[in-house]
Amino acid sequence: MSRTAHITCPLCEATCGLEVSIGDDNSVTRVRGDAEDVFSHGFICPKGASLGALHADPDRLRAPLVKRDGEFVEVSWDEAFAEIDARLRPIIDEHGRDAVAVYAGNPSVHNVSSSLYGRVFFRALGTKNFYTAGTVDQIPKHFSSGYLFGGAFTIPVPDIDRTQHLLMLGANPLVSNGSLMTAPDVRGKLKAIRGRGGKIVVVDPRRTRTTELADEHHAIRPGTDALLLFALVNVLFAQDLVALGALAEHTAGVDEVRALAEPFNPEAVAAVVGIDAAEIRRMAVELAKADRAAVYGRIGTTTQSFGTLASWLVDVLNVLTGNLDRPGGAMFPKPAVPLSSSRAFEHGRWRSRVRDLPEVFGELPVATLADEIITPGDGQVKALITAAGNPCLSSPNSARLAGALGELDFMLSLDVYLNETTRHADVILPGPTPLERPHYDVALYHLAVRNVANWTAPAVESDLPQEWQTLLRLTGIVTGQGPDSDLSALDTFVAGEFARRNGVDVAVAGERVGPERLIELMLASGPYDITLADLEAAPHGIDLGALTPRIPEVLTTASGKVELAPGAITRDVPRLAAELSTAPNGHLVLIGRRHLSSNNSWMHNLEPLVRGSNRCTVQMHPDDAGTLGLTDGGRAKVSSRTGTIELPVEVTDELRPGVVSIPHGWGHDVDGVRTSVATAHAGANSNLLADEHLLDALSGTAVLNGIPVQVVPA
Ligand code: SF4
Repeated sequence: MSRTAHITCPLCEATCGLEVSIGDDNSVTRVRGDAEDVFSHGFICPKGASLGALHADPDRLRAPLVKRDGEFVEVSWDEAFAEIDARLRPIIDEHGRDAVAVYAGNPSVHNVSSSLYGRVFFRALGTKNFYTAGTVDQIPKHFSSGYLFGGAFTIPVPDIDRTQHLLMLGANPLVSNGSLMTAPDVRGKLKAIRGRGGKIVVVDPRRTRTTELADEHHAIRPGTDALLLFALVNVLFAQDLVALGALAEHTAGVDEVRALAEPFNPEAVAAVVGIDAAEIRRMAVELAKADRAAVYGRIGTTTQSFGTLASWLVDVLNVLTGNLDRPGGAMFPKPAVPLSSSRAFEHGRWRSRVRDLPEVFGELPVATLADEIITPGDGQVKALITAAGNPCLSSPNSARLAGALGELDFMLSLDVYLNETTRHADVILPGPTPLERPHYDVALYHLAVRNVANWTAPAVESDLPQEWQTLLRLTGIVTGQGPDSDLSALDTFVAGEFARRNGVDVAVAGERVGPERLIELMLASGPYDITLADLEAAPHGIDLGALTPRIPEVLTTASGKVELAPGAITRDVPRLAAELSTAPNGHLVLIGRRHLSSNNSWMHNLEPLVRGSNRCTVQMHPDDAGTLGLTDGGRAKVSSRTGTIELPVEVTDELRPGVVSIPHGWGHDVDGVRTSVATAHAGANSNLLADEHLLDALSGTAVLNGIPVQVVPA
């Protein structure tokens, strides 16, 4: 019988409610926005509308694969786990736990099974070689928030529904659908700001779809956001515009920031950032004088050489203007399922073996994963486990990493596709589709612009084990219990530990098992009086209200205050100051860009999302194209220290001169993959150009915006 299911879309950070129509044969007949969803009110984007295509994709893996004599063959789940036990366990026994590296991709965070039970498995594995897509993305924000507020997930988000002045840097939420800001229908929210007489200012080297909705666009030189932000801070002090308001008694370090900002006056930074000093001054004054303002920085500010300083300065501005933690400013969500730890944040608890890079948020930079695999010696990585990740397309100098994977003794991938990375694996374990699994956005509700909670039961039955069962079985293997351990006993043990850590009685979860039980326990430890049964009875979600002030209870720094000038961050300021005397050298620099129908690398096998004109082009300004002898529609070779790619040229005045732009996640034209649609729309891999030695000094995050390149006609 056909039916309708209401789910939360797990594809991106917006967490839209969707209404899925399911036919007699369990096929998906329609996906549309859930008009009654308490958060998204019917919003949907092309990716969400393609969930049915993902579910039906004939290329999607539906059985485990084991590589035999260089070819993948389908095997039973028991055979696959026996193979893993036979090959992984001896590596741990002989070389130790750090010899097994883990890489978790972005979809892991959008999957309640993977995010909760992945942590169980990785802890049981006990390796220090833990990598995620975070170090090519948002880790600088975790770093700065950790030291400012005490928790890596204590990240303020713009109170976009009430702000009157929104300053955005390196963010294109109309296309990304919001990031480190869970906010469905950003277009509607931005229009509403202007509709109530507010102002939107966008700082971005490229004129994006978001800038079209803004009052102002400042085309900054890539990688210089921290200088601009420091100049804004400088103006606040110089013009006596610092006004912390209620934050004053909860903030330490204001005088240190004043001193640090001294050299960064607008005249000093103007030539380097490419924005007039008078404009910078006006931006600062308008920000300070706005009635309810928020500063927000996203991927353009985090994937650059000064990513942590830029992330820190975004919140320094929010504090100095008195806008942190007040309605219409930058506020801390209060999720129903809390993740926060009461321990003060610290980093560098261990360091990478080869390049001596510090751990941040439990992760080492993926930019050094290849080093750890190919460099002999004690602690060399011999095995790799990837979970819903495609680092062969998404990490810097990905050709080097792809080569390194060939040197592993064993590789296991948890993935729904045989793709550019998983083709190197010895075993691939597929998981259910988003429609076949339960869902709750544990991490993303920590970033939501309104407090909401929404539970999704599987819309369609699956023939595949749920990821939490797979991960528990792997936990049994790495803890020496073999491939057939008692999953029920393991799960009960995990739940007991969860209950103990969250200070609740495991019995509150009754007969539930798996992620349902863990979510129930976490809800019981949370700040609202709701249970999983309440959420199950509310298919459109539960609205928990607008964001409310949370300082000081949200602060977990050692001092109990907002630490505005933490030494772990400010020690990088002299490196930034040195930039003031560095004249722009006239070299072209590469930045990325997003498209509404693209989700990093992994949804390019869906026809509805790749049809139309080729989006994987190198965009450049007409002046640069003219100088280089390039024409619109012609082809160019783009080269950096690490590689060369060839792709079509798109001449557009959307970019500032001196900047070229290529989207990431493409480059599907490699042998041995099973993604027929993506292969037919291959594009070129921009991460062949990203240099694994260009990192944000503090967080180890790769520089993906501002890569020096040369461009010539192909
Ligand atoms: S915006 Fe994100 S959450 Fe909403 S439908 Fe699109 S992919 Fe799904």
